[in-house]
Amino acid sequence: MNKTITEHISENVNLCSNPSELKITDIRVANLNGAPKHCPLIKIYTNQGLVGYGELRDASSATYALMLKSRLIGENPCNVDKLFRRIKQFGGPSRQGGGVSGIEIALWDLAGKAWGVPLWQMLGGKFRDKVRVYCDTDVEGKHTGHDMGLALKKRMEQGFTFLKMDLGIEMLLDEEGTLNAPAGFLEDIKKYSMKAINHQAGSIDRSLMLGKNYEIFTIPHYATGIHVTEKGLDMLEGYVREVREVIGYEIPLAIDHLGHIAIEDCIRFLRRLEKYNIAWVEDITPWHLTHHYERVAHSCAVPICTGEDIYLAESFEPLLQCGGVSVVQPDLLTIGGALETKKLGDMCERYGVAMAIHMAESPIACMAAIHTAAALQNVLAVEYHSIDIPWWNDLALGIDNPLFRDGFVKVPDKPGLSIEALNEELIAEHIHKDYPGMWEPTDEWNNEWANDREWS
Ligand SMILES: [Mg+2]
Repeated sequence: MNKTITEHISENVNLCSNPSELKITDIRVANLNGAPKHCPLIKIYTNQGLVGYGELRDASSATYALMLKSRLIGENPCNVDKLFRRIKQFGGPSRQGGGVSGIEIALWDLAGKAWGVPLWQMLGGKFRDKVRVYCDTDVEGKHTGHDMGLALKKRMEQGFTFLKMDLGIEMLLDEEGTLNAPAGFLEDIKKYSMKAINHQAGSIDRSLMLGKNYEIFTIPHYATGIHVTEKGLDMLEGYVREVREVIGYEIPLAIDHLGHIAIEDCIRFLRRLEKYNIAWVEDITPWHLTHHYERVAHSCAVPICTGEDIYLAESFEPLLQCGGVSVVQPDLLTIGGALETKKLGDMCERYGVAMAIHMAESPIACMAAIHTAAALQNVLAVEYHSIDIPWWNDLALGIDNPLFRDGFVKVPDKPGLSIEALNEELIAEHIHKDYPGMWEPTDEWNNEWANDREWS
């Protein structure tokens, strides 16, 4: 029997939803911990029973999403770009971008579920069927480059085809004659917080945001007054050489968290790194200091990368224009979500800059990153930070398990983010102790308002 086009379409559209009449009724959160860091998760509820999943950036605050609730209630979540433009003014760099970005992801999830299509399809279709993943690798405590090499070698044996490690000046703190700084400052760092110059190796906790810790933690690279001696540079270079001796030269190796040192010292170190074929060196100075990036990139032949703290695609453009970066690394949950990442991908094509995607969050953010990476013409890899967390994959139901096979994730066809449900029992087991409760009512945010017009 011949079917009409209308009959074909209606068979393929989720009939429990009438997308044009879909309306947001509620937004609630649950604060998960240890996946791999603090992950504030979002649910957007609708008048048709569909629920969209979102997530704020790692170590962000759910408040950044909840303050948007009153601006979204009653709106059709399928109008993703329209709603994004309304809430865009409430995002900002780093974790501040988390609310707008997390909501954007949840809106796409709802639109996909309502119309029955995966996120990558709504972004224009896919360029690949599987997405390469790279695995961040840490070695706990005092160790050598050889030890790091062995840890990375294990990743290669697990099938990963792209590697990243941390290498920072904190390993020099107890080595005499390797660092100099204003008298007493290195002792301050050791006393108040070893994490202050290399905080990302661990999870950020509230204590780092208080008192003297906060003061030290927030001194930017150029203002610490820390310099690396030739002996210190020898040690850092020796570490990289030992790593390469173990893992060989055939596989890309990126480096993060050099530490808060002056850019002149960065340049001295990066020149030494040229012969080790480094994929990129990340965040060597605050991202908004465009002229620093320009100077470093033009002073050495190592690819320079930044971007995980940059809000909106347009904010990347000065760095791309001046040739300050060879690789950008947006986090979907800071940049503003999937569509901003797609826009950045287009910008990268124009300037001839590569993209990798930063991701240190739960399977919700991960699936958003995988779908978006599938829809980008060029992408090196998506980051994965949770390989040593055995329960991470089980947080989302309906996705591949194991999700990562031979260093890749297969791009799924299921609607939205392709997550059928969250594992509520598992989330309950790992709720952040400082933020108990799951998906509790958020009525106190229903009447939040201001004059949102940005001009007079
Ligand atoms: Mg980083």
